[in-house]
Amino acid sequence: MTRPRQPPLEQPGQRLGSSADLGGLIPQLTAICGQDGLISDPMELRTYECDGLTAHRCSPGLVVLPETASQVAAVVRACAGAKVPFVARGSGTGLSGGALPHADGVLIVTARMRRIIEIDPGSRRAIVEPGVTNLAVSKAVQQYGLFYAPDPSSQQICSVGGNVAENSGGAHCLKHGFTVHHVTGLEIVTPEGELTWLGDGTGAAPGYDLVGAFTGSEGTLGIVTKIIVRLTPVPQAVTTLLAAYETTGQGGAAVSAIIGAGIVPAAIEMMDALSIEAAEAAVACHYPQGAGAVLIVELDGPEADVRSETAAVRKLAEQAGAFEIIEAADPAERAAIWAGRKSAFAAVGRISPAYIVQDGVVPRTALPQVLDRISALSAQAGIRVANVFHAGDGNLHPLVLFDDESPEQEAAAEVLSGAILDECIAHGGSITGEHGVGVDKSSYLPRMFGADDLDTMQLLRCAFDPAGLCNPGKVFPTPRMCGEVPGVRRGPHPLVASGQAEIF
Ligand SMILES: Cc1cc2nc3c(=O)[nH]c(=O)nc-3n(C[C@H](O)[C@H](O)[C@H](O)COP(=O)(O)OP(=O)(O)OC[C@H]3O[C@@H](n4cnc5c(N)ncnc54)[C@H](O)[C@@H]3O)c2cc1C
Repeated sequence: MTRPRQPPLEQPGQRLGSSADLGGLIPQLTAICGQDGLISDPMELRTYECDGLTAHRCSPGLVVLPETASQVAAVVRACAGAKVPFVARGSGTGLSGGALPHADGVLIVTARMRRIIEIDPGSRRAIVEPGVTNLAVSKAVQQYGLFYAPDPSSQQICSVGGNVAENSGGAHCLKHGFTVHHVTGLEIVTPEGELTWLGDGTGAAPGYDLVGAFTGSEGTLGIVTKIIVRLTPVPQAVTTLLAAYETTGQGGAAVSAIIGAGIVPAAIEMMDALSIEAAEAAVACHYPQGAGAVLIVELDGPEADVRSETAAVRKLAEQAGAFEIIEAADPAERAAIWAGRKSAFAAVGRISPAYIVQDGVVPRTALPQVLDRISALSAQAGIRVANVFHAGDGNLHPLVLFDDESPEQEAAAEVLSGAILDECIAHGGSITGEHGVGVDKSSYLPRMFGADDLDTMQLLRCAFDPAGLCNPGKVFPTPRMCGEVPGVRRGPHPLVASGQAEIF
């Protein structure tokens, strides 16, 4: 079959799928997944209308809850046959609208595919289904002295399938790497409904690295139905330090000094004054009073290395201006230090009615300048920004706070959020570190990539999904009308209001 160079774009009058196509699919999907594996009731469908990014909402046409890979393959074949779009969903914790459903499409939810199929401590690998939660893998293998290293802060609920699609990271990815470094084989259902394997579980399969290409493809190249994950030995020793600074600039300087000294901690996380205030209110983490920034540095590895690196990090942290350093004496104190950081996103809900979780990357050395620019932009816009982020990777998570009762504030928060991404690009960084492009940032992609780059990426997408039915409308920018910005639209578009355009 000739593969197109661009997937069919959804243009007015050329929609993918229709409610009639969907209606015709119901008997087929019921036969595949059973009565209780199909949801068509409009009220129940609303449960799935968004992921963790609630600004974008759309009720799916239908939801299926398959229990096996062959059921997923049969569902996809049925969709492909009827030219109905489909979207995979794991736990729905994504923060870029990647699992946003298609109104005339089928949402394939992996929540019932939660088996850990095999654990092989000898070769340090496990085979899991996509709906298994990230933390469940580590819990299942801890009896062998092993753990699954990628640790997004959402690890109690997010699925391994979702982690693969987003190439998720987490606090400890600075040393241990991202999901792509811990996945050696994937069973997938292609967008045409074929069940096949990418990679052979060794991480060294000959030929193109299709596991690497698939990981981070945000559900646009097919649906993962089994994952071979690499397991990591639990480190012999761990120390956790919390260093308090008056300014984020001092904290940023400490990060550069630590990495510059050749030390690679398992994690270096930073929180600024506003995020500390929110975390204190939520979990009473008792960070040093008066801190304008705290740095959490965790070191792990062989006991002797950790001891000497801890001493070196203490010294460097002090030289950068730390006015207090706390070292966790035991696992309970370690958990107390992490409690503030891990609760930070949710805690911000206590100090603001609504907020945007932004995700951008800058080179570590540019952290102080970019943080200064964020605070200047925030003052200029009159919108508060709390910063809590993976400082070691330069992966910023500015939380842009606003009142969602005020359309003006909401619009200003969107503009500020975009301006922060522009700063990241201007400093040689990226519009996303780990939350993906999804639907939320697709319009920002051309700010980083030229038309040729985007066309080349589309060639890969079309090689997997020539019909453009697999998670359409995500990642790549669709034509936008001049002056349009991402975010919730209030009221009709001026062209619709004037009768020159129609929304189907
Ligand atoms: C409080 C909070 C903290 C977070 N912290 C982090 C963090 O530290 N690091 C980080 O990287 N992320 C973080 N996230 C974001 C999110 O948890 C991750 O992106 C996670 O990997 C999403 O997994 P999920 O199962 O919820 O996927 P979903 O949200 O359901 O889906 C995400 C994407 O994956 C696709 N997908 C899902 N399952 C499959 C499948 N089986 N096959 C193919 N595609 C599939 C979907 O189509 C969608 O595009 C956080 C989110 C929250 C709410």
